[in-house]
Amino acid sequence: MPIATINPANGETLKTYEAMGEEEIERRLQLAEATFRTYRLSRFVDRGRLLVQAANLLDEDQRDIARIMTTEMGKPIAQARAEAAKCAKAMRWYAEHAEALLADEEPAEADVSDSGASRVRVRYRPLGPVLAVMPWNFPLWQVVRFAAPALMAGNVGLLKHASNVPQTALYLEDLFHRAGFTEGCFQTLLIGSGAVDGILRDERVRAATLTGSEPAGRSVAATCGEMIKKTVLELGGSDPYVVMPSADLDRAAQIAVTARVQNNGQSCIAAKRFIVHTDVYDAFADRFVEGMKALKVGDPMQEDTQVGPLASEQGRADLEELVDDARRSGAAVLCGGERPAWPGWFYPPTVLAGITRQMRIHREEAFGPVATLYRAGDLDEAVLIANDSPFGLSSNVWTRDETEMDRFVRDLEAGSVYVNGMTASHPAFPFGGAKRSGYGRELSGHGIREFCNITTVWQGA
Ligand code: NAP
Repeated sequence: MPIATINPANGETLKTYEAMGEEEIERRLQLAEATFRTYRLSRFVDRGRLLVQAANLLDEDQRDIARIMTTEMGKPIAQARAEAAKCAKAMRWYAEHAEALLADEEPAEADVSDSGASRVRVRYRPLGPVLAVMPWNFPLWQVVRFAAPALMAGNVGLLKHASNVPQTALYLEDLFHRAGFTEGCFQTLLIGSGAVDGILRDERVRAATLTGSEPAGRSVAATCGEMIKKTVLELGGSDPYVVMPSADLDRAAQIAVTARVQNNGQSCIAAKRFIVHTDVYDAFADRFVEGMKALKVGDPMQEDTQVGPLASEQGRADLEELVDDARRSGAAVLCGGERPAWPGWFYPPTVLAGITRQMRIHREEAFGPVATLYRAGDLDEAVLIANDSPFGLSSNVWTRDETEMDRFVRDLEAGSVYVNGMTASHPAFPFGGAKRSGYGRELSGHGIREFCNITTVWQGA
């Protein structure tokens, strides 16, 4: 894939970049390692000050970086600004909380004396340079939710961003430098995915995190497995959105639309499979389809656009294939389902019903504004359908019945359960998946500890 900015709203190539060669990669790896040796000794208060400065600069740059993101991957401009604001918030959150999250822990007195020690502490020490392989769909947020905790923990970051968002990738390196982080603390490697393996095998790189597709995750995890290096994987999702009879149907249907089409439908935590109790199925389906049909699709730079183009021509072709496969196998197309005639990689909000297990869309991730509707006879069937997926990222349930809530929380195979609301990440809550959606957690105390050497310090009398 070329490293280039190609505007998905019209297919125009705006800027191309040469991939960095071996010498430049070597220079940057050396710099990362050398920087880590001193940066790891810095104080939390100083790291936090730099991170807050980065947040302030990001707030100042918000309009400009939002335009860059929208140009590179097509998200509606208002959502791009919101993404930048969310990144600044997460930076401030980690600047404020990292020291407490990584404070030494003291085991229980009885266990300390049982071990023969006078004192035992658990200390969280940084690991070293961490490679982050990142996707284009939230081109700022995915990187910041890695970078903010990594930098606060005393690690240094190397970013291999998706090839279609090079300007955002370069902006991030520049942002951290302007904030005052020394050059080697955060570096962008302009490289294709073929260069990742060699970097992972380099002893100077101590760990890796990948957000992206299953094949990319498998490849990075395989190499890191061979090299015995820690990984965090945030992969795809096909989140269920279950609606039970006691739900507020108007609200459930309204939020369902946003949950499906946010970021032009290209979000790992978008609700993708809508599983509705038979008693309210028709009422929900009518409202949901109306809501999907009413969305304004068009130029993502326009303030009132709700759904822009897909990020790539291939992405649209993949989505079309999933819809066509379902249609051929008997799915009903309740709205959408045909690409528009105008230029750019647009695809309309689409709702499919009558999904069977034989259809590819039942098991694969639909990365675009396409929803599937399922009818469930009761709670048990709703849970069965929800869990009948290789993925387990997040899940959404709508019910006012406490017993039902408890059942969903107990039984849904996912990294989170959102009750009467849609999934959204927050710096203070752990984020990550089960099954093929990956492993490890980002955000919160769990996220910052992923790339730490958890060190037991035992002292004799
Ligand atoms: P992708 O094709 O896997 O790309 C993600 C990153 O991995 C890019 O930087 C890509 O580089 C790189 N890459 C691809 N193949 C690789 C390989 N074999 N070895 C090493 N690196 C490789 O995914 P995408 O299309 O950008 O993103 C969409 C996917 O990400 C969806 O499945 C979505 O659900 C998932 N996602 C998950 C989360 C989460 O938190 N769980 C969040 C967002 C997105 P190139 O661009 O150079 O190919």
